[in-house]
Amino acid sequence: MNGKVWLIGAGPGDHGLLTLRGKDVLEQAEVVVYDALVGQGILCMMPDNAERISVGKRSGDHTLPQDEINALLLTKAMQGKRVVRLKGGDPFLFGRGGEELELLIEHDIPYEIVPGVTSAFAVPAYNGIPVTHRDICSSVHIITGHRKKGRVLSLDFKALCAMHGTLVFLMGIAALPDICGGLLDAGMDPKTPAAVLERGTTAAQKRVIGTVGSLTSLCTKQKVQTPAIIVVGDVCALSERFAWYEKLPLFGVKAVVTRPKERSSALSSMLRQKGAEVIELPAIDTKPLVGNTRLDDAITSLLKKKYDWLVFTSPAGVKTFFSRLMQTGDCRMLNGVQIAVIGQGTQKELMNYGLKADFIPSVYDGQTLGRELAEKTQAGARMLIPRAAAGNQELVEELRRVENVTIDDIPIYETRYKEMGILDLKTLLESGDMIFTMFTSASTVKGFARIAAGLDMTRVKAVCIGKQTQAEAARFGMNTWTAERATLEALTECLQNAAYELRNKEREAMV
Ligand code: SAH
Repeated sequence: MNGKVWLIGAGPGDHGLLTLRGKDVLEQAEVVVYDALVGQGILCMMPDNAERISVGKRSGDHTLPQDEINALLLTKAMQGKRVVRLKGGDPFLFGRGGEELELLIEHDIPYEIVPGVTSAFAVPAYNGIPVTHRDICSSVHIITGHRKKGRVLSLDFKALCAMHGTLVFLMGIAALPDICGGLLDAGMDPKTPAAVLERGTTAAQKRVIGTVGSLTSLCTKQKVQTPAIIVVGDVCALSERFAWYEKLPLFGVKAVVTRPKERSSALSSMLRQKGAEVIELPAIDTKPLVGNTRLDDAITSLLKKKYDWLVFTSPAGVKTFFSRLMQTGDCRMLNGVQIAVIGQGTQKELMNYGLKADFIPSVYDGQTLGRELAEKTQAGARMLIPRAAAGNQELVEELRRVENVTIDDIPIYETRYKEMGILDLKTLLESGDMIFTMFTSASTVKGFARIAAGLDMTRVKAVCIGKQTQAEAARFGMNTWTAERATLEALTECLQNAAYELRNKEREAMV
């Protein structure tokens, strides 16, 4: 049976500008065929098990010719696959989306179109430029500035001027002098405000504001990077007043989040809310150990009141423990047992089962948990610690100080290091100065170092949740910053301070 193709617009870059429909379909994809303009945050949303094919087109440099892309979609669909064709912005706006449908129609392949947020509107919006304004202009025109190799740009500049609307040129940077020249020759006032907006809605967003008369020379001085759009019209003058994106506290910062996929969203959304561009690159995942008789025995002994304390050191531990416990009984089996957790994240997971911890240490690490819990418990206490295989030993060493203590330290899940993901880490780490990697545990550091094997670790700026994580990152030679407390809020604050510190250094170096 034939599969189906979804033509999806990924928006201009910012992960939040992918539509809900686009996200739903992407998460179900078996094959994803994607372009170079798709935001990195969105590339990371592709399912791990999907076949991912880059047909990375950037102006003049077509990795795969259009007819081969068309044929590829057809072949994959005929194999019965759910195929997503992911394109920057809106798939039909200068996106050759129409061409990609022809072959599918000929072969009766079902398809759907998921429109996208176009860069033509979103990039001006992220720069504080409303493309129309009641008092200023009443139309907006989107024009391609692309010219075929060796050809001159053939646009009806007289007609464009006559409309008195906002003009947005896509793919026009190489032709910027021709576009401004053409408009001036057609009689446009050289003082008309105009802008070049580059890499909009990403951490690298930048703009050059000038006039039709000055824009070309301003841009040669500042060396524009693509992708970029050109906007011409009085609305460009509003930019300085309406600009908002770069005022967010983490604007300009790219943060690589390495924690396991199912746990990354709280941190990612906190960082995104503050304006960071987030790339999720899970370095580890966790897998429950199977046939775990020690755990099963421990759960059965709960009924015989074998334990006084149940100690959790991670959300994954809570989840794995309870999913096994529920196969035998339910939370009432814990009647009379006190529960200790290492920190807020673990507490939160525990609350999903309707339980609150009796004890959380003042500092969220294994050693403090052990020490403070040891101070609190009486001689002869019996403890169950269901946690990661090869868990940190400091916790147990501290607890052993309790007289006559019994400790059942039971491995219940293993931490696995992930394979290299979709992004080229080397290019990513070297693509700018404001890229930070967020580490919420020593194992994420180890996993990341494996993925990044062979790369220069001294280029990695590691923002770490606590001192054990920091020590691990430092061991690999990374530059480190450590959060004051082991919470996601403190980690976010730490990133903000690190970015601030680096910017100040850059400024000082420039003076
Ligand atoms: N379908 C896309 C446009 C494809 S043509 C859309 O709807 O946005 C490619 C051009 O889009 C680029 O040359 C550039 O002019 C523009 N573009 C795409 N993403 C952009 C971004 N993040 N910032 C600035 N311009 C962008």
